[in-house]
Amino acid sequence: MSLVFQRNVPLKALNTFGFDSIAERFVRLESVDDIHALHASLDENPSPLLLIGGGSNLVLGRQVPGVVAQVAIAGIECEELDGDRVRVTLGAGEEWHSSIESLLRQGIYGLENMALIPGCVGAAPVQNIGAYGVEVKDRIEAVEVYDWQQRRCFWLKNADCEFAYRDSVFKRHYDRYLITRVRFLLSRVAECVVTYKPLRDAIETGLEVSPQAIFDAVCRIRREKLPDPVVLGNAGSFFKNPVVSMSQYETLKAKCPNIVAYAEGDGFKLAAGWMIDQRGWKGFRQEGVGVHEHQALVLVNYGEGDRRQIEALAGMISEDIQVHFGVQLEIEPRFYP
Ligand code: FAD
Ligand code: NAP
Repeated sequence: MSLVFQRNVPLKALNTFGFDSIAERFVRLESVDDIHALHASLDENPSPLLLIGGGSNLVLGRQVPGVVAQVAIAGIECEELDGDRVRVTLGAGEEWHSSIESLLRQGIYGLENMALIPGCVGAAPVQNIGAYGVEVKDRIEAVEVYDWQQRRCFWLKNADCEFAYRDSVFKRHYDRYLITRVRFLLSRVAECVVTYKPLRDAIETGLEVSPQAIFDAVCRIRREKLPDPVVLGNAGSFFKNPVVSMSQYETLKAKCPNIVAYAEGDGFKLAAGWMIDQRGWKGFRQEGVGVHEHQALVLVNYGEGDRRQIEALAGMISEDIQVHFGVQLEIEPRFYP
């Protein structure tokens, strides 16, 4: 079957900021054959290409030229390995949160700290998603990609994905790979990660230490703290937590003794949300956008916002943090086009 391209497709429901955005052409990719067909079509009619999953890490402009391709490859396979390990292969189009839920029901553990992160499996390796002390790179064995240069699919081992803090080879080279499947090494034995304070606090007040209990606690904490994109448009954390050198950290600590920071490699990771909050931005509103009232790291769309407004607000915050703390913030979601 040939690919079906739709023209002038509204993307409002396909980006969690809820921005009004129109794709010149839109297509769903459900198989590797669809990818080959798309590639052939792009050979004939070269156009810009945006790959999209759930649109929860994107800031879209009003017009998106060329093709928007939603990666909708399905599939979930589990292979029992020696000991208690399980190799799980998920299609890029599978929904992230419901995949974790389904694995938990089957007694397969390891992803529960990353519950309720919106989006699809295929985007998880792109920025090496992470939450509550676990990053997806800690659980990935390999990532299957379609390489636009070599015109074929192959598996990239974890070590070749160049994973780093909210970063990977996929984020650094958007145009090189389309992720088709992700292979995880998980376990039938619980190895609970409870390093983050909200989880430790919950344990002190009686939370059982089990994957299901951690999953439930993470969902509860996130629902209390984060705006639901269905109600209030957002793309999660708008800025990455900056990692600074030991000496820069010591200078900052002398100036701001309460600064929130965690050791990261040879340096320190600063809590960007704390810095933005300290500067009084929480709850700030300008035009149709603002800073969430409970979480300073999250910029929100009150309904009429757009990319220009978010860009302007982010610029004001970044400049203020640079002037006050001498730290350059880096934006986490991708702006397109
Ligand atoms: P999209 O936004 O559709 O795409 C993101 C990027 O990946 C784009 O560059 C896109 O081109 C590319 N891409 C998508 N699919 C593919 C593919 N198959 N192959 C190659 N490239 C692809 N992130 C965290 O790390 N931790 C969190 O705790 C977290 N919490 C969040 C909470 C909220 C409320 C929101 C709105 C966002 C949060 N995020 C978090 C950010 C976001 O959910 C993740 O980055 C998620 O993995 C994005 O998935 P998506 O399918 O929506 O990707
Ligand atoms: P939080 O618990 O208020 O902590 C603030 C920041 O400090 C976090 O960003 C986290 O960094 C860091 N941190 C806290 N405890 C840490 C520890 N024990 N070791 C190392 N670093 C620690 O954070 P939050 O905003 O409520 O978010 C909770 C978790 O969900 C975090 O892991 C966060 O990354 C994740 N989250 C991510 C997004 C997103 O869009 N990227 C959105 C919402 C929530 P890290 O960010 O490196 O974990």
